Amino acid sequence: MAVLSRCSRAVTAATTPNAAAAKFSYLIRALSPFSSSSSSPSTFDADNGLNSRIKPAVLGTLKREPKDRNVQWVFLGCPGVGKGTYASRLSDLLGIPHIATGDLVRDELASSGPLSSQLKEIVNQGKLVSDEIIIDLLSKRLEAGEAKGESGFILDGFPRTVRQAEILEGVTDIDLVINLKLREEALLAKCLGRRICSECGGNYNVACIDIKAENGKPGMYMAPLPPPLQCASKLITRADDTEEVVKQRLRIYQAMTLPVEDYYRSRGKLLEFDLPGGVRESWPKLLHALNLEDEEDKQSAAA
Ligand code: ADP
Repeated sequence: MAVLSRCSRAVTAATTPNAAAAKFSYLIRALSPFSSSSSSPSTFDADNGLNSRIKPAVLGTLKREPKDRNVQWVFLGCPGVGKGTYASRLSDLLGIPHIATGDLVRDELASSGPLSSQLKEIVNQGKLVSDEIIIDLLSKRLEAGEAKGESGFILDGFPRTVRQAEILEGVTDIDLVINLKLREEALLAKCLGRRICSECGGNYNVACIDIKAENGKPGMYMAPLPPPLQCASKLITRADDTEEVVKQRLRIYQAMTLPVEDYYRSRGKLLEFDLPGGVRESWPKLLHALNLEDEEDKQSAAA
């Protein structure tokens, strides 16, 4: 009951854009120690419906120079493109938390808390959860990370609407948005082939995608991504990875999230990355595009 009233209070408190922004800014303030020398430009706009009262706080205390903190990156891309796979690899490589709002939603769903049945219905229909609920879940995750001394983040699955992007932009600086792209023919098959380890949360894929060259378009081969032995018997399929729901998620991506690509493109933050194939082929190229190197990967490739 106490949890019920806490959650409903949070959702009710965040029913206006102002309240959502204020809640998020409070959190990021806690997250980002003040750098008084910060002169980062802000796109925060008091007229865009966000809370004008938090503007001075945002400008004064929430922005840290990139040199004083870890990277703050966002992964964008259609369902099934592989955001989770590449974000989690980069997270391991850079030692920066990978925060996937889809995981936060699924954790909440599995918790049988008061939001659980409401979320289940939304997620299993392939719809988006409200901005307020997502911001509440993300805020709590960031707060917990801050308490453990985390710095920087790689966000996966957030922002997914222009309003979410505006709220995020209003409270902190995103350094880079990596927009992963994959041929449409492969997206549905990748979602249907996705398997998750119920114990460690690792993402694997049983689909073998072999698109033949046609009408001048090159072929594409993506090998399955098999789980390690210890995960093999613990694999589960996401309830929203059915054909009907994946198609609905793809439609919603086009309608709600494509404008987010434009939002970051117009701010010069979008790095477009066309995945050339499976992880083996794509990972080194992504690293190259990001000016990064993975020593372990190089060694295993040479072995
Ligand atoms: P996908 O494979 O579609 O990218 P995710 O794991 O990122 O899936 O998200 C699963 C579900 O969680 C989404 O379909 C949506 O219902 C919900 N969700 C995740 N992130 C957000 C968000 N930022 N805004 C609204 N809903 C979200």
